[in-house]
Amino acid sequence: MLGDGMSMTTVTSARILKGQLNGKTGEETILSWETFPNLALSKTYNQDYTTPDSAGTGTAFMSGVKTNKGVIGVDASVHRGHCNPSPAHELSTILDWSLAEGKSVGIVTTARITHATPSSAYAHVADRGWEGDHYTQHVVGGCKDIALQLVEDNPNIQVLMGGGRRFFLPYTAQDPESGSNTHYGRRDGRDLIKEWENDKTARNMSHKYVWNSKQFHQTNFSQLDYFLGLFDSSSMAYELDRFDTHYEVAGEPSLAEMTEAAITILQKNPKGFFLLVEGGKIDLAHHGNHAVKALHETLAFNDAVAKMDSMTNDRDTLAVVTADHSHTMVLAGYPARGNDILGLIKNSAGKLELAKDHKPLTSLIYGTGPGAWSGIRPDLTGVNTDDKEYVSESAIPLNPSTHAGEDVVIYAKGPMSHLFHTTHEQNYIPHVLAFASCVGEYKNSCVDHMP
Ligand SMILES: [Zn+2]
Repeated sequence: MLGDGMSMTTVTSARILKGQLNGKTGEETILSWETFPNLALSKTYNQDYTTPDSAGTGTAFMSGVKTNKGVIGVDASVHRGHCNPSPAHELSTILDWSLAEGKSVGIVTTARITHATPSSAYAHVADRGWEGDHYTQHVVGGCKDIALQLVEDNPNIQVLMGGGRRFFLPYTAQDPESGSNTHYGRRDGRDLIKEWENDKTARNMSHKYVWNSKQFHQTNFSQLDYFLGLFDSSSMAYELDRFDTHYEVAGEPSLAEMTEAAITILQKNPKGFFLLVEGGKIDLAHHGNHAVKALHETLAFNDAVAKMDSMTNDRDTLAVVTADHSHTMVLAGYPARGNDILGLIKNSAGKLELAKDHKPLTSLIYGTGPGAWSGIRPDLTGVNTDDKEYVSESAIPLNPSTHAGEDVVIYAKGPMSHLFHTTHEQNYIPHVLAFASCVGEYKNSCVDHMP
């Protein structure tokens, strides 16, 4: 379970928000993974950058090999943007190793299913931007776009849910939700959704494709072998926007609902399963300095982890919750206990704390991002900083905001979770997953925990 951009500050602040939404002061609250018994730190740097991106980090925690920023599923001899389709540079992943041992596999995300984290499980590209052939049509060297790799090269992934529909439909086709043609659609004219369905039909597998929440809720997942849900043309809606018709037309399931559906399908396999669940929009909210949305995305991820925990058994399931990298949000100043985590800082006497410029400040501020002011800092008196569209203040103007480079936490429970116990390189993670589930290079040197 991967909270994209879920820094330690994000966890602390989301925990406080969860409590405050339940009428408590907040600091004492716990999130669903905060009862996991084994914790460690993950060093997230990429091979070539101190502060990493989700492509390099995703490759590290899926394949077990650190690589360059911006590349996916290939080793560090491949440089970003340089098409090099040689299999010699391709890295296999925990998803491949699990499939090879007859386990079921699935990927669930709120980002595009072709985005950096989910595609790190199945794709091999020199540039994370090559999500569809809109981007690869002029690339020299014959490199395949990520959506095509997903459908053509990975026909045995049983569960796929997320956004990114536009990379699967011909550019001449109308998107069912917007009703308009998509500029980013396929230039090769292929309908990859149809091709996905045709492959399952040809192999006599029960399957279903849906693109909205009504169809999702009408699906009997326990009867299915294969499921494809593409719920948005681009990434799925923020949790706070999911029922806001300004942002979302056809409706989308929550991350917890998608997780439940995925496990319902995957756990039918007596050999077990590997599932990647990504809270993909914690990161996107942080990139816009949207602290309010980032925390609510983290709470949606919290609900997904709780759902996973309620459907699995600690005796046979290794559950790992971590982040790919940090963000620059800090929880600072001296807010009194129970002070609104999204609000202006008040002291224990209920008085607004003022900065050197005699103006109030929020507890959550960013190092970098679009929330930087030019000239004199704005006066936040009377501003509703709890509003979902509020952009938090940042020190340095950058749009989007950058990631941050410090370690992130690994929370684990279940078989072999004690192997997460110190400060680890991020690429150590899939080695533990493989050892605990007897796949990949550890398939003959492990303790099988399947019942
Ligand atoms: Zn990011």
